[in-house]
Amino acid sequence: MLEALNEQINLEIASAYAYVAMAAEFAQQNLPGFDTWMQQQAKEEFGHAMRIVDYVHDRDGNITYGPLKAPKAKHGTVRQIIEAALKHEQHVTKSINDLYALATKENDYATQQMLAWFVTEQVEEEKSVGDILARLEIAQDAPAAILMLDRELGARSGD
Ligand code: MG
Repeated sequence: MLEALNEQINLEIASAYAYVAMAAEFAQQNLPGFDTWMQQQAKEEFGHAMRIVDYVHDRDGNITYGPLKAPKAKHGTVRQIIEAALKHEQHVTKSINDLYALATKENDYATQQMLAWFVTEQVEEEKSVGDILARLEIAQDAPAAILMLDRELGARSGD
């Protein structure tokens, strides 16, 4: 279980790294709202990693370190970037579900409780990215619609 939790910590930090790259790609396309929104996602991913780090410490476990997967630097259009983000979140959801299944198999009730938060969080993550993608699909790459969405995302993002 501990090994699997450490792998999840790595995946969450790799997610933050991937979103930093996606934010930069938005910045290069002069979309500050998408950039800010994606930076916010990156911070959230780092928060997810720290949540598991704290839990491992609470259980007197050790953190192990592995190489971080380098993010893809270029995805293409706004829609392609958001599609990649959704695909990534779906991958994270599968990873969380696999962890939960392992904790269940091992009768590790405390880890199940900790992971329950992530199960709920993944529903939220997939919904927020999925909603943006749905609107981009309606927009069909129309610049005016993308600029409007950019302004909206920039206004919604905190800190
Ligand atoms: Mg996450």
